[in-house]
Amino acid sequence: MHTGAFSSDAKQTIEELISSAKAKGILVAAITEHYDMDYPHKDEVFTFDLNEYGNIFPKWRDLSKQMNGPELLMGIEIGWQPHLNDRIKETVRSLPFDMVVLSDHLFRGTDVYYSTEAALLPRAERNKEYIGSLSRMCREIDDFDTVAHYDYINRYIDDPDSAVFYRDCSDEFDDLFSTLIRKDKALEINTSSIGSQINKKAEYIMPDPDIIRRYIQMGGKLITIGSDAHTSDKIGQLFNRTALYLKSLGVHELFYYKNRKPVSDPEYASYF
Ligand SMILES: [Zn+2]
Repeated sequence: MHTGAFSSDAKQTIEELISSAKAKGILVAAITEHYDMDYPHKDEVFTFDLNEYGNIFPKWRDLSKQMNGPELLMGIEIGWQPHLNDRIKETVRSLPFDMVVLSDHLFRGTDVYYSTEAALLPRAERNKEYIGSLSRMCREIDDFDTVAHYDYINRYIDDPDSAVFYRDCSDEFDDLFSTLIRKDKALEINTSSIGSQINKKAEYIMPDPDIIRRYIQMGGKLITIGSDAHTSDKIGQLFNRTALYLKSLGVHELFYYKNRKPVSDPEYASYF
């Protein structure tokens, strides 16, 4: 989740995040502020002062304790570009993070949010290119825990027929999964992506079952679930529905990361 203190596109304060998570019975919450170095859209900044974050986080933890809120995990969502590999390594090593989320927000150098090019391509072509890029990212970077929103390419494409399907890019998914499994990294299921499918009245709401089944079939065990909440009303959004769905596909455990180690989430069973 993101807060307005460090993520320029988030609206919630830490107090609002804690209260909302507490009201929803969430016991552990990861804050993963945006850190997109060399973000191409110059009028927007998606980086922050890492020292300041490191200094304030213990205070946030104490605040959550005082408010009887969730245990807070210090995370970061780092945006990848091919020239950033060394700087990503330095960033991850600069603070004692609990959880590092790695993401790719760009399609051909433009944030998917702004990309008209992506929407004009045939679905299979853009999916193939994007998943291929994620696969390369996970091959080149070792310093991360979970790969964020594999379906980000689809999020702002206003076509009810669009989604990310395994069949569109099976080789790219297989490459991505074999890298994740070999490196012991997790696949994130992002419920904000599911929310956006609902909002656009898409034909396919939930992640393509073939994606999850194939990951498990290849030996993938580590799956994280993230609301990606930027406002407090979205905290825990669609967790129950998503957990039930994942369970139906044979996912027996969900994980979060503490001190960069996977922890089986005891709350998983409480979602269904
Ligand atoms: Zn993201």
